[in-house]
Amino acid sequence: MSAPDLIVRGKRVLAGNAAEPAPAAIHIQHGVITAVTAFDEAPSGSSIYETGDDLVMPGIVDTHVHINEPGRADWEGFTTATRAAAAGGVTTLIEMPLNSIPATTTAPAFREKLAAAAGKLWVDTGFWGGVVPGNLHDLGPLWQEGVFGFKCFLVPSGVEEFAHVGEDDLRAAMPVLAELGAPLLAHSEDPKIIESASKAAAKLPVNQYSSWLASRPREAENKAIELLVRLATAAKSRLHIVHVSSAGALDIIRAAKTAGLAITAETCPHYLTFAAGEPNGLGSEDPSYIGIPDGATEFKCAPPIRSRENREQLWQGLREGVIDLVATDHSPCPPAMKRLDDGNFKTAWGGIAGLSVALPVMWTEASARGFGLADIARWMAEGPARLAGCDSRKGRIAAGCDADFVVFEPKAEFVVAKERLHQRHPISPYLGEKLRGVVKATYVRGKAVFKDGKFPAGPGGKEFRL
Ligand SMILES: [Zn+2]
Repeated sequence: MSAPDLIVRGKRVLAGNAAEPAPAAIHIQHGVITAVTAFDEAPSGSSIYETGDDLVMPGIVDTHVHINEPGRADWEGFTTATRAAAAGGVTTLIEMPLNSIPATTTAPAFREKLAAAAGKLWVDTGFWGGVVPGNLHDLGPLWQEGVFGFKCFLVPSGVEEFAHVGEDDLRAAMPVLAELGAPLLAHSEDPKIIESASKAAAKLPVNQYSSWLASRPREAENKAIELLVRLATAAKSRLHIVHVSSAGALDIIRAAKTAGLAITAETCPHYLTFAAGEPNGLGSEDPSYIGIPDGATEFKCAPPIRSRENREQLWQGLREGVIDLVATDHSPCPPAMKRLDDGNFKTAWGGIAGLSVALPVMWTEASARGFGLADIARWMAEGPARLAGCDSRKGRIAAGCDADFVVFEPKAEFVVAKERLHQRHPISPYLGEKLRGVVKATYVRGKAVFKDGKFPAGPGGKEFRL
């Protein structure tokens, strides 16, 4: 075998399935890891990047990102989103089928999206297709063209091009997906419960977070997940619950796993970080309690951020493996739509953009709870890669995988400022937060796409299909 193009070596490399970082040398040829060896094994003449005491960990794989191009590129776009990803240590992202126009619900629409993305990718980017009412015959062609699976909504999605599905649609679509072997990713909230809760909350003050929370009760999530589990069990199809926010759903997911259903679940950094007073007053009497201030619509997302007790139960779900992975649900919009001027929770767009800060946010919160960097790698790199079916190439530092990694300073701290957010609109509930862990460099297939605050190369990411 010829000499590697590059060797990356350091005292703290998180490779393979190791529980702790250890000294190692990563040998890279044509962007692929050919071997992970002892620190000293480096053929003379090889180009060596010494990472010293900094941590080298697998690049983050974010399977829940809304880029909104073509059609709503004023909300976000491939250039800004994938640069934000690179700055956050994300080396692969899988983009959601909605908020772009057209939505990725047919093969021609998928081709339009690929054309819009061409030449604008700083990190490797794959795509989910969508299940909407009436596109049953589009699922096979989308899968043939390389989507990684299919997203659906059980409640209105917020955009008219991506209608939500009902039980009959799911009964028809799930066997088709089972036949393809494709996972169904579901936004799981029950529309009837949301509708009646919204009606009951209609007279509450629109600038208070608790009004928004009252309109999206945990019960809506729990009920929708129960239905999905029932249907997926009957169809023997793969089911992934996106952005679990209700800890009440964990028992349902755990039971479905025990019963042998191919079910996985994700939660998001914001549900694991922030907390709010619930209508039952949980937590609000505690003087150290940090809730969501009135008018702070940068915190609005659906399902909503819930109580501190609920948040800690989600951490317990991660600890027990009931929740398999963490993804950002990066979903930005223009400032006017976020209603920061009048703080109206009812009309503000629901979505939190997290690509540039998810890794330090997670490390800050996880390390405070006794978790290690190997846990972060499992939740944010290996787990998502497995969901997308690309775990033989992505999500780990191991021979045969793409040379995607992050050079991370776990002990360094920084305060989130707008310049750190590389998304199109620097709106974020994390602004002003002091975080632990700094992304020094991000490598995609052996090339630095982000280093010391700069983007040294051009858009070197690839459109990524199975
Ligand atoms: Zn989403």
